[in-house]
Amino acid sequence: MRCCCGCKKKENESVSEVKDAGKVKIVVLLGPPGAGKGTIAQYLLDNYEVVHFSTGNLLRNEVKNDTGLGREVSAQVGSGGLVSDDIINRVVESNLAKTLEGDSVVLLDGYPRSVDQAKFLDRLDSGCLKDTIRIIEIDVGSEVVVARLSGRKVCSKCGATFGYLDVITECSRCGGVIVKRADDEEAVLMRRWQEYENTTMPVFEYYGSRLLEINGDASPDEVARNVSDVFRGFGVKKRR
Ligand code: AMP
Repeated sequence: MRCCCGCKKKENESVSEVKDAGKVKIVVLLGPPGAGKGTIAQYLLDNYEVVHFSTGNLLRNEVKNDTGLGREVSAQVGSGGLVSDDIINRVVESNLAKTLEGDSVVLLDGYPRSVDQAKFLDRLDSGCLKDTIRIIEIDVGSEVVVARLSGRKVCSKCGATFGYLDVITECSRCGGVIVKRADDEEAVLMRRWQEYENTTMPVFEYYGSRLLEINGDASPDEVARNVSDVFRGFGVKKRR
Protein backbone atom coordinates (compact mmCIF):
# COMPACT_ATOMS: atom_id res chain seq x y z
CA MET A 1 0.00 0.00 0.00
CA ARG A 2 1.22 3.49 -0.80
CA CYS A 3 0.84 6.60 1.36
CA CYS A 4 -0.07 10.10 0.16
CA CYS A 5 3.41 10.83 -1.14
CA GLY A 6 3.66 7.56 -2.99
CA CYS A 7 5.99 5.80 -0.56
CA LYS A 8 5.20 2.30 0.64
CA LYS A 9 2.95 1.99 3.67
CA LYS A 10 4.92 0.44 6.52
CA GLU A 11 3.82 -2.82 8.04
CA ASN A 12 1.55 -2.42 11.10
CA GLU A 13 0.78 1.17 10.10
CA SER A 14 -2.92 1.89 10.47
CA VAL A 15 -4.99 3.30 7.64
CA SER A 16 -5.85 6.35 9.79
CA GLU A 17 -2.13 7.10 10.12
CA VAL A 18 -1.86 7.03 6.36
CA LYS A 19 -4.91 9.31 6.00
CA ASP A 20 -3.27 11.70 8.49
CA ALA A 21 -0.19 12.05 6.32
CA GLY A 22 -1.01 15.60 5.16
CA LYS A 23 -1.96 16.85 8.66
CA VAL A 24 0.35 19.50 10.13
CA LYS A 25 2.91 17.79 12.38
CA ILE A 26 5.85 20.19 12.28
CA VAL A 27 5.95 23.98 12.26
CA VAL A 28 9.34 25.51 11.50
CA LEU A 29 10.01 28.98 12.91
CA LEU A 30 12.51 30.74 10.66
CA GLY A 31 14.00 34.15 11.31
CA PRO A 32 17.22 35.93 12.25
CA PRO A 33 18.62 35.92 15.78
CA GLY A 34 16.38 38.27 17.76
CA ALA A 35 13.35 37.79 15.49
CA GLY A 36 11.35 36.68 18.52
CA LYS A 37 11.28 32.92 17.82
CA GLY A 38 11.57 32.11 21.54
CA THR A 39 8.75 34.52 22.46
CA ILE A 40 6.48 33.18 19.72
CA ALA A 41 7.27 29.63 20.76
CA GLN A 42 6.32 30.50 24.36
CA TYR A 43 3.02 32.05 23.20
CA LEU A 44 2.22 28.90 21.22
CA LEU A 45 3.18 26.65 24.15
CA ASP A 46 0.84 28.60 26.43
CA ASN A 47 -2.08 28.48 23.99
CA TYR A 48 -1.82 25.39 21.75
CA GLU A 49 -1.10 21.67 22.02
CA VAL A 50 2.47 22.06 20.82
CA VAL A 51 5.86 20.82 21.95
CA HIS A 52 8.94 23.00 21.63
CA PHE A 53 11.93 21.42 19.90
CA SER A 54 14.82 23.89 20.07
CA THR A 55 18.16 22.63 18.75
CA GLY A 56 19.89 25.52 20.59
CA ASN A 57 18.38 24.46 23.97
CA LEU A 58 19.17 20.83 23.21
CA LEU A 59 22.84 21.60 22.48
CA ARG A 60 23.18 24.00 25.44
CA ASN A 61 21.91 21.20 27.73
CA GLU A 62 24.47 18.78 26.29
CA VAL A 63 27.23 21.36 26.92
CA LYS A 64 25.94 22.04 30.45
CA ASN A 65 25.85 18.30 31.27
CA ASP A 66 29.33 17.85 29.77
CA THR A 67 28.27 14.89 27.60
CA GLY A 68 30.37 13.59 24.68
CA LEU A 69 28.19 15.52 22.25
CA GLY A 70 28.37 18.60 24.49
CA ARG A 71 32.16 18.55 24.43
CA GLU A 72 32.11 18.09 20.64
CA VAL A 73 29.93 21.17 20.05
CA SER A 74 30.81 23.50 22.94
CA ALA A 75 33.24 25.65 20.92
CA GLN A 76 30.64 26.43 18.24
CA VAL A 77 27.72 26.87 20.63
CA GLY A 78 29.72 29.38 22.70
CA SER A 79 31.13 31.34 19.77
CA GLY A 80 28.03 31.80 17.61
CA GLY A 81 29.36 29.50 14.89
CA LEU A 82 27.23 26.70 13.52
CA VAL A 83 27.59 23.06 14.48
CA SER A 84 28.26 20.91 11.40
CA ASP A 85 25.27 19.73 9.36
CA ASP A 86 26.28 16.10 9.97
CA ILE A 87 26.18 16.46 13.75
CA ILE A 88 22.99 18.54 13.97
CA ASN A 89 21.15 16.34 11.46
CA ARG A 90 22.10 13.28 13.53
CA VAL A 91 20.90 15.01 16.72
CA VAL A 92 17.58 15.98 15.09
CA GLU A 93 17.01 12.54 13.60
CA SER A 94 17.59 10.76 16.91
CA ASN A 95 15.46 13.15 19.00
CA LEU A 96 12.65 14.20 16.68
CA ALA A 97 11.00 10.81 16.13
CA LYS A 98 10.24 10.51 19.86
CA THR A 99 8.81 14.04 19.95
CA LEU A 100 6.60 13.29 16.94
CA GLU A 101 5.02 10.25 18.60
CA GLY A 102 2.43 12.33 20.49
CA ASP A 103 -0.51 14.20 18.97
CA SER A 104 1.03 17.62 19.55
CA VAL A 105 2.38 19.76 16.76
CA VAL A 106 6.18 20.03 17.03
CA LEU A 107 7.59 23.56 16.89
CA LEU A 108 11.02 23.46 15.33
CA ASP A 109 13.06 26.39 16.62
CA GLY A 110 16.62 26.89 15.34
CA TYR A 111 16.47 24.16 12.71
CA PRO A 112 16.94 24.00 9.76
CA ARG A 113 19.69 26.61 9.50
CA SER A 114 21.20 25.55 6.17
CA VAL A 115 19.87 24.24 2.88
CA ASP A 116 21.47 20.87 3.63
CA GLN A 117 19.50 20.69 6.90
CA ALA A 118 16.25 21.74 5.17
CA LYS A 119 16.70 18.98 2.59
CA PHE A 120 17.53 16.48 5.34
CA LEU A 121 14.31 17.40 7.17
CA ASP A 122 12.26 16.96 3.99
CA ARG A 123 13.79 13.52 3.48
CA LEU A 124 13.16 12.26 7.04
CA ASP A 125 10.85 9.26 7.42
CA SER A 126 11.46 8.40 3.75
CA GLY A 127 10.09 11.80 2.73
CA CYS A 128 6.67 11.12 4.28
CA LEU A 129 7.09 13.96 6.76
CA LYS A 130 7.57 16.65 4.11
CA ASP A 131 3.87 17.07 3.47
CA THR A 132 3.21 17.70 7.16
CA ILE A 133 5.78 20.51 7.55
CA ARG A 134 4.77 24.18 7.54
CA ILE A 135 7.28 27.03 7.59
CA ILE A 136 6.69 30.40 9.25
CA GLU A 137 9.08 33.18 8.29
CA ILE A 138 9.35 35.90 10.93
CA ASP A 139 10.18 39.05 9.01
CA VAL A 140 11.98 41.61 11.15
CA GLY A 141 14.10 44.74 10.51
CA SER A 142 17.80 44.81 11.44
CA GLU A 143 17.46 47.81 13.83
CA VAL A 144 14.79 45.93 15.80
CA VAL A 145 17.04 42.87 15.93
CA VAL A 146 19.99 44.88 17.32
CA ALA A 147 17.81 46.53 20.00
CA ARG A 148 16.35 43.20 21.04
CA LEU A 149 19.58 41.23 21.11
CA SER A 150 21.55 43.78 23.09
CA GLY A 151 19.05 43.43 25.93
CA ARG A 152 18.10 39.76 25.74
CA LYS A 153 18.04 37.82 29.00
CA VAL A 154 17.53 34.22 29.97
CA CYS A 155 16.51 32.34 33.13
CA SER A 156 19.59 30.55 34.49
CA LYS A 157 17.34 27.76 35.87
CA CYS A 158 14.63 26.90 33.29
CA GLY A 159 16.10 28.57 30.17
CA ALA A 160 13.04 30.77 29.46
CA THR A 161 14.01 33.81 27.39
CA PHE A 162 12.96 37.37 28.12
CA GLY A 163 13.04 40.35 25.78
CA TYR A 164 14.71 43.73 26.07
CA LEU A 165 11.39 45.19 27.29
CA ASP A 166 11.24 42.86 30.29
CA VAL A 167 12.76 44.65 33.30
CA ILE A 168 13.04 41.71 35.67
CA THR A 169 15.68 39.95 37.76
CA GLU A 170 13.63 36.87 38.68
CA CYS A 171 12.01 34.38 36.30
CA SER A 172 8.21 34.74 36.26
CA ARG A 173 7.87 30.99 35.54
CA CYS A 174 10.22 29.30 38.02
CA GLY A 175 11.73 32.04 40.19
CA GLY A 176 15.24 31.44 38.77
CA VAL A 177 17.80 34.21 38.44
CA ILE A 178 17.72 36.17 35.14
CA VAL A 179 21.09 36.59 33.42
CA LYS A 180 22.29 37.98 30.09
CA ARG A 181 22.47 35.21 27.49
CA ALA A 182 26.07 34.02 27.12
CA ASP A 183 25.95 33.91 23.32
CA ASP A 184 24.65 37.47 23.09
CA GLU A 185 28.02 39.21 23.54
CA GLU A 186 28.88 41.58 20.69
CA ALA A 187 31.55 39.51 18.88
CA VAL A 188 29.36 36.44 19.15
CA LEU A 189 26.39 38.36 17.78
CA MET A 190 28.41 39.49 14.77
CA ARG A 191 29.40 35.89 14.08
CA ARG A 192 25.81 34.70 14.47
CA TRP A 193 24.63 37.36 12.05
CA GLN A 194 27.26 36.39 9.45
CA GLU A 195 26.34 32.73 9.78
CA TYR A 196 22.73 33.73 9.31
CA GLU A 197 23.41 35.71 6.13
CA ASN A 198 25.76 33.17 4.57
CA THR A 199 24.21 29.88 5.56
CA THR A 200 20.63 30.38 6.70
CA MET A 201 19.28 32.96 4.25
CA PRO A 202 19.52 30.54 1.31
CA VAL A 203 17.02 28.35 3.20
CA PHE A 204 14.30 30.92 2.39
CA GLU A 205 14.98 30.43 -1.30
CA TYR A 206 14.90 26.66 -0.87
CA TYR A 207 11.44 26.81 0.73
CA GLY A 208 10.12 29.38 -1.78
CA SER A 209 6.32 29.31 -1.95
CA ARG A 210 6.13 27.05 1.11
CA LEU A 211 6.96 30.08 3.33
CA LEU A 212 4.25 31.85 5.35
CA GLU A 213 5.41 35.30 6.38
CA ILE A 214 4.48 37.14 9.56
CA ASN A 215 5.58 40.63 10.58
CA GLY A 216 7.94 40.25 13.55
CA ASP A 217 8.33 44.04 13.97
CA ALA A 218 4.74 44.39 15.21
CA SER A 219 3.76 44.63 18.89
CA PRO A 220 3.79 41.35 20.86
CA ASP A 221 -0.05 41.31 20.86
CA GLU A 222 -0.21 41.78 17.09
CA VAL A 223 2.44 39.13 16.48
CA ALA A 224 0.41 36.77 18.69
CA ARG A 225 -2.76 37.53 16.68
CA ASN A 226 -0.93 36.89 13.39
CA VAL A 227 0.49 33.62 14.67
CA SER A 228 -3.00 32.59 15.82
CA ASP A 229 -4.39 33.34 12.35
CA VAL A 230 -1.66 31.22 10.76
CA PHE A 231 -2.36 28.37 13.19
CA ARG A 232 -6.09 28.59 12.43
CA GLY A 233 -5.16 28.23 8.77
CA PHE A 234 -3.18 25.10 9.67
CA GLY A 235 -6.29 23.67 11.33
CA VAL A 236 -4.62 23.61 14.76
CA LYS A 237 -7.16 24.41 17.49
CA LYS A 238 -6.48 26.69 20.46
CA ARG A 239 -6.28 25.00 23.84
CA ARG A 240 -9.35 25.74 26.01
P1 AMP B 1 20.14 29.05 19.17
O1 AMP B 1 19.72 29.09 20.60
O2 AMP B 1 19.11 28.45 18.28
O3 AMP B 1 20.62 30.38 18.69
O4 AMP B 1 21.41 28.05 19.07
C1 AMP B 1 22.58 28.25 19.85
C2 AMP B 1 23.79 27.65 19.15
O5 AMP B 1 23.58 26.24 18.93
C3 AMP B 1 24.07 28.21 17.76
O6 AMP B 1 24.87 29.38 17.82
C4 AMP B 1 24.82 27.05 17.11
O7 AMP B 1 26.17 26.99 17.55
C5 AMP B 1 24.10 25.83 17.67
N1 AMP B 1 22.97 25.41 16.80
C6 AMP B 1 21.64 25.38 17.14
N2 AMP B 1 20.90 24.94 16.12
C7 AMP B 1 21.75 24.70 15.10
C8 AMP B 1 21.59 24.25 13.76
N3 AMP B 1 20.37 23.97 13.25
N4 AMP B 1 22.71 24.11 12.98
C9 AMP B 1 23.93 24.37 13.47
N5 AMP B 1 24.16 24.82 14.71
C10 AMP B 1 23.09 24.98 15.54
